Amino acid sequence: DTKVSQSSSSTEFKKSIITRIPEDSKNIPKHVPYLLIGGGTASFAAFRAIKSNDARAKVLVISDELAMPYMRPPLSKEIWSDTDLGLEKARFKQWNGAERSIFYEPEDFYMPIEKLEESKNGGVSVIQGYTVTKLNVNEQKVLLDDGTEITYDKCLLATGSSPKTLRIFDSASPKIKEKIFTYKSVKDFELVKKQVEKSKNVAIVGNGFLGSELACALSHYGTLNDLKVVQLFPESGNMAKVLPKYLSEWATERIRDVGVNVLPNSQIVNVELFNGNQIKLILNNGNSIIADFVIQAIGSQPNTNLAEKAALEIDQKLGGFLVNAELEARSNLYVAGDVACFYDPHLGRRRVEHHDHAVVSGRLAGENMVGLRKPYKHQSMFWSDLGTAIGYEAIGLIDSSLETVGIFAQTNSNDNKNEIKIDGENKEAHSVESGNFKKENGTDNKSESYNKGILFYMKNDRIVGILLWNVFNRISIARKILSSEEKFDDLNEVAKLFDIFEQ
Ligand code: FAD
Ligand code: NAD
Ligand code: NAD
Repeated sequence: DTKVSQSSSSTEFKKSIITRIPEDSKNIPKHVPYLLIGGGTASFAAFRAIKSNDARAKVLVISDELAMPYMRPPLSKEIWSDTDLGLEKARFKQWNGAERSIFYEPEDFYMPIEKLEESKNGGVSVIQGYTVTKLNVNEQKVLLDDGTEITYDKCLLATGSSPKTLRIFDSASPKIKEKIFTYKSVKDFELVKKQVEKSKNVAIVGNGFLGSELACALSHYGTLNDLKVVQLFPESGNMAKVLPKYLSEWATERIRDVGVNVLPNSQIVNVELFNGNQIKLILNNGNSIIADFVIQAIGSQPNTNLAEKAALEIDQKLGGFLVNAELEARSNLYVAGDVACFYDPHLGRRRVEHHDHAVVSGRLAGENMVGLRKPYKHQSMFWSDLGTAIGYEAIGLIDSSLETVGIFAQTNSNDNKNEIKIDGENKEAHSVESGNFKKENGTDNKSESYNKGILFYMKNDRIVGILLWNVFNRISIARKILSSEEKFDDLNEVAKLFDIFEQ
């Protein structure tokens, strides 16, 4: 089994046959004060919080990946835009031009596992390529896949989520399966990179965050490297679960503008091998697509398989381990990140699959593991960038099944600045500023209207979520509005707080 592992530098990858580090588990301590299951962002945020509140803490992170803790967001975005940096060194350029590694810490930050137990000042060790197969909550003990047992004082479950797969691909022949990918990790990135280098066509299935971002990123890469991207999904537009219909369909046009061949209303009904080494996807509308390989981005499922043996409760509706507002599942057992179904005292029970939530909840869990007893209070945010015309940030409950009110900046032909307001799905647009805009039904001729604006997500006449559409550095205003618990009579006045013309 060839796996990607890290060499002496955390920014360079080398192929090797190493499957776990340390290769021999004899140096893994039998007991640790802080045990973190999963080596993702939530664990990273937790060990930071633990170390800043308990400087001499000894923390052991168990990761079933070989790479040290890293951030996933650049993998569907920036890493594809500078191939020299991205494809070779796991580095990427941020939007402000600064170069950065995807790894959270340099290799020498971590303590070699054999030194952890004896170290006077404590430290953070990561064992890589080890899976926790059993958790015994009463005895405060975990079992690893090689039979090693470790007891803990405090434990964090941060096992994240795994990509879902379509049954039609799961049951396909091995020759077809070789060309069907999911996309979650640096290892997946390496595998997809290899495919991309020898392909002319890729099909991406799914219209969510991952499918839409990756379609834009690979299309951009493809303009320089002769790769064509098709994106297909059953809904009528991109990000349909997140954006109201009119905005989702407008976003689809902008994604087409960057070269992605977006095929909405398309469901795969059959898959075949074509010409011996290509994939033919047959769609419900009778059309078919030929691709050299396929990436499925159809959502993810929380990794809760440790629940059953540990007798932990899973939320039946949202998935994930049930925890209270302090992120506690049982005594001395905390949960954070994608896999936590937590109680938000302000917005109710939630599970959130976003980077900043992993940071916020991981930090909170870490603080509570050292005994600070804090409730979930600071709302996390999320962001996405799609092609060249769309970037957005959001906070709270963002779900297109909620009622939405959108207020968009509008510059008319006389250069007058106005805002237009779009109420929910009825697509009724009217001026909120000076009456220059007539009430209109439909949005066909108003495509320029959606370049910049604020979307309010409503429940029982209260704002429960705010999405900032091409409006940046205003998330703290949104956070304040959301936490105010006020009922606002005039959302136009609320929108004005964002000063969207001043950007
Ligand atoms: P994960 O990052 O999934 O980490 C969990 C880790 O635990 C994994 O390494 C897993 O292999 C390991 N693990 C699981 N079970 C075990 C076990 N039993 N034993 C040992 N280890 C185990 N969010 C945004 O807000 N903005 C973005 O732009 C964005 N971009 C993304 C791009 C990509 C390609 C992906 C995949 C996700 C993106 N996300 C983004 C989502 C965000 O990355 C996740 O919400 C975040 O990583 C969740 O962190 P986590 O620590 O809960 O879980
Ligand atoms: P998602 O839940 O956002 O999207 C899943 C999409 O899959 C659905 O919207 C639907 O269009 C499609 N789908 C479902 N069943 C299908 C079927 N039978 N046929 C065709 N299409 C089908 O999940 P994702 O986009 O796969 O992202 C994976 C994870 O990574 C999520 O947790 C996501 O939040 C996270 N992520 C977040 C960001 C971000 O926050 N910017 C970016 C990338 C990934
Ligand atoms: P920030 O420091 O306020 O970051 C917000 C949260 O996102 C933090 O938790 C941070 O750790 C995390 N984060 C940000 N970028 C990340 C990345 N690439 N990978 C992993 N985690 C990341 O904001 P920032 O880091 O200065 O910039 C990111 C923000 O900038 C995003 O919200 C994005 O939408 C926005 N953006 C702004 C412009 C602009 O022109 N002003 C253009 C593109 C994107």
